[in-house]
Amino acid sequence: MPAIVQVVPVGAAARSFVRDLAEPVSSVFGVEVCLGPPLAEPKYAFNKDRQQYHSAAILRRLAATRGREQLGVLGVAEVDLFIPDTPYVFGEADRESHSAIVSLARLRPEFNGAAQDNDLLRARGRTEVVHEVGHLLGLSHCDDPRCVMYFSSSVTDTDRKGCALCNDCRTELARVVRGR
Ligand SMILES: [Zn+2]
Ligand SMILES: [Zn+2]
Repeated sequence: MPAIVQVVPVGAAARSFVRDLAEPVSSVFGVEVCLGPPLAEPKYAFNKDRQQYHSAAILRRLAATRGREQLGVLGVAEVDLFIPDTPYVFGEADRESHSAIVSLARLRPEFNGAAQDNDLLRARGRTEVVHEVGHLLGLSHCDDPRCVMYFSSSVTDTDRKGCALCNDCRTELARVVRGR
């Protein structure tokens, strides 16, 4: 049976765009991708003081939608995400609950005062989606700034690294897949 990752639009994230972002996942990891039914706007995760959304609360909802045959669930949201003790996150993955999320909020060029650019947003979104799916499949952060598993602390990192795995991460992936 092929391994399946379910991708889920969260709140305002457009279904067709989310499908588009998940496109490289199959070729990079050799898994099948299915698009799940969208989740509602995550009002339950909103933190008034921070004016941001707690990503762990959304991960719990996502995890509950995972089919038994699915390796993991990944949500794509428009809202700005945080985890405690960090100013923000582009995304987060939780191996135990097999759930992950990516936010488009800070990947939008207009977030940093640049002109709107859908192609750039798509490229960044794809990179971050592949990164979080990599965590779901068992990969950790990588020291190679050109590898998709490198940790992005800014969009500059995301733009530099792109969607591909380095050789070490490819070897590691093969090892994890064999052990599954
Ligand atoms: Zn990461
Ligand atoms: Zn790597």
